[in-house]
Amino acid sequence: NTAYLNGEFLPLAEARVPVMDRGFLFGDGVYEVIPVYSRRPFRLAEHLRRLAASLAAIRLEVPLADAEWTHIIERIVAAAEFQDQSVYLQVTRGPMAVRNHAFPAVATPTVFVMTEPLVTPPAELREHGIAAVSAADNRWHRCDIKATSLLANCLLRQRAVDHGCAETVLFRDGFLIEGAASNIFAVKDGVLLAPIKNHLMLPGITYDVVLELAAQHGLPTQVRDVLEDEARNADELWMTSSTKEVLPIVMLDDRKVGAGGTPGPAFKQMYGWYQQFKASVMR
Ligand code: PLP
Repeated sequence: NTAYLNGEFLPLAEARVPVMDRGFLFGDGVYEVIPVYSRRPFRLAEHLRRLAASLAAIRLEVPLADAEWTHIIERIVAAAEFQDQSVYLQVTRGPMAVRNHAFPAVATPTVFVMTEPLVTPPAELREHGIAAVSAADNRWHRCDIKATSLLANCLLRQRAVDHGCAETVLFRDGFLIEGAASNIFAVKDGVLLAPIKNHLMLPGITYDVVLELAAQHGLPTQVRDVLEDEARNADELWMTSSTKEVLPIVMLDDRKVGAGGTPGPAFKQMYGWYQQFKASVMR
């Protein structure tokens, strides 16, 4: 499995980063996860745009041009043994001479790319849906940055696992925000409800795809603040992410979502549109 580290292609097992790297000591870095279907990156331009936004937010320059990122990704993807992949890309503020929270005068960013097999959720999860727990969102106020400092997200996702669930749905001050590692949509009376993008949630690439597909196929949509009560009483809840695509949440905190506690009709439509769209851009 080939990786890229600071200008070099090398086997992943041989990639090494100094312990004084700010990514290691502070989680001072940003990342992207890009799904690759049949060796074709999905929505690469959008992922690179979000990476640039994350880097700007943490005051790092974009270390490589889009054409260079694309070349690196293509090379790693071509070298992998598997067709469907999940490319992971990370930029940290690099090593420091002595441990100091403040930035080094001149940062030498660490740039890392690797690929892993993409395991899309088994059909069973789409057919029966997944269970989720809820939690108060205790993360910071810059969740729009795709930062590698993911301790809060890890604790929140583990909470789901501890309850035998697949995801934790986060509420803040009475509003639906997102999942521990996903965006969350609600459906009520045939209308798709999407929390409006702001500094409290990650602007998901899949979130955008879902909204585009809803618009294209005429699914009524409202992008606005969604109340916790609205989410809890929704007919359907979905989670979306690059690796999970779209999944129906049928239980939230041991309560059925909607009447049936089964995947709803809007989900089934959206899942179909999503697969169709994937196939059309991968051709
Ligand atoms: N929200 C959080 C906190 C995430 O970690 C992720 C990514 O996995 C998402 C949302 C979904 O974003 P994307 O659709 O770009 O994968």
